[in-house]
Amino acid sequence: MQCDKCKCLIESGDEMQYREMILCKNCYIDAMSPSRTCDPWAVYTAKSCSDAGTNLNEVQSKILKILKDTGGVKAEALAEMLHIGSSKLQREIAALRHMEKLKAAMKDGEKVICL
Ligand SMILES: [Zn+2]
Repeated sequence: MQCDKCKCLIESGDEMQYREMILCKNCYIDAMSPSRTCDPWAVYTAKSCSDAGTNLNEVQSKILKILKDTGGVKAEALAEMLHIGSSKLQREIAALRHMEKLKAAMKDGEKVICL
């Protein structure tokens, strides 16, 4: 059985039904999470549930480094620093969120991305 969202293999008995989809536990929790703000389908860019976290692409590594150095920045500022479009940035952020590498937070009344 395959997860409809991240396409990882689901062991028999571990599959979760969500609307018309079969999801792995990670994606199911993700889908049910009320704090979710990103496009859930963006996790397509995460290779699979099992190896998530070990296969950061270049942009994702840079994002994590910037967040580590700055302690949290706005998404727009991040896109500027990386010289990428906001839609691409949102995809990478969603993938990193799926790996639980970063989160959104409020700082001085503004939404920032931080580790
Ligand atoms: Zn999944």
